Amino acid sequence: MKNTVYLDNSSTTMPCKSAIDGINNALNENWGNPSSLHILGMNAENCISDAREKIAEKLSCRQDEIYFTSCGTEGNNTAIFGAAYQRKKLGKRIVTTSIEHPSVLEAMKRLESEGFDVVYIKPQPNGSVSQEDLISAINGETVLVSIMLVNNETGAFQPVKLAAEIIKKNNAPALLHCDAVQAFGKTDIKVYDLGVDMLTVSAHKIHGPKGIGALFVKKSVTVRPLIVGGGQERGFRSGTESVPLIMGFSGALSELPDIKPSFEKMQALKNALTEKIEKSGIAEINSPYDGLPYIVNISLLGYRSETVLHFLESKDIYVSSGSACAKGKGSHVLNEMGLSRERTDSAIRVSFSRFNSMEDVDKLFEAIIDARNSLRRSN
Ligand code: PLP
Repeated sequence: MKNTVYLDNSSTTMPCKSAIDGINNALNENWGNPSSLHILGMNAENCISDAREKIAEKLSCRQDEIYFTSCGTEGNNTAIFGAAYQRKKLGKRIVTTSIEHPSVLEAMKRLESEGFDVVYIKPQPNGSVSQEDLISAINGETVLVSIMLVNNETGAFQPVKLAAEIIKKNNAPALLHCDAVQAFGKTDIKVYDLGVDMLTVSAHKIHGPKGIGALFVKKSVTVRPLIVGGGQERGFRSGTESVPLIMGFSGALSELPDIKPSFEKMQALKNALTEKIEKSGIAEINSPYDGLPYIVNISLLGYRSETVLHFLESKDIYVSSGSACAKGKGSHVLNEMGLSRERTDSAIRVSFSRFNSMEDVDKLFEAIIDARNSLRRSN
């Protein structure tokens, strides 16, 4: 891994040492069932409580508003189905955006097939949905609004707080859910200030293990559980808790640096990359200048994403074409932003983590120039 330049951190991040230590600790020592009444169970339960406290602290909420899930996908499914089924007597209208992650969009499709009316707001060319479109979409009959905080392909911020204000103003019976998987740990999230009822996070985007996430559900809100059984997680998410993964998540949180200096470091990396690209005119930039700086989406016009991705791979540089979850399919996000076919077909996503440096940006840029000089154009 020494010379590897890993720039696919929005797909997943390298587990950090504290995450691995946490997992090992749970497997070697704290392996009891957290529901057991004896000391081994209590020890495991204490590890879970400690992790819950850390997440609650990061989101500025109460510990008993945090529920562990198996991943961000489960968090999104739980929030969306749970809220829709809980509120269906109050109305059938649901509002979301057309650039959500598939774990939201596929859940919405299923709700549509069950009789809900789902409104998909399109983004503007800059990748964010507009205030006007939100205002006209959210009416007094809306029972659920689901909007991501940061888009996973472009880094564009979405107006979640504004959605909360519109719901309140319209006196709508809507619950507000936010997919904050790409934003968590990278930008300050205070759930009460944001005005959300539910918010999803996932550990593997912040150097924790895969297969563990958490859902914030506001105390005053009732949502129907998706998984029923032994009543773990205070009856909201049954199934014996994965103590190793929860402790891995907890380890990742304890190693998470302060938001502001990290944000500034990523901004410097993003600025350096975008300036080089703009000066050379070698590619188009698809991410907004004021997006989350951890994500930079670019298009090397005339060169297919996959071809460039594999060329970079041959130089030990790893990026993604669109998002990892949309393997092989064109990006619905870039399409919805109205970008040309040529631009979407040649899009690659560069995503940084705290382990990246300016040297990585230089290596990437040189390799992109090399790609253009060595590869055959696709058109
Ligand atoms: N939401 C967003 C915005 C994501 O980027 C992802 C993963 O890429 C998910 C949800 C799904 O998270 P998980 O991989 O933990 O299921």
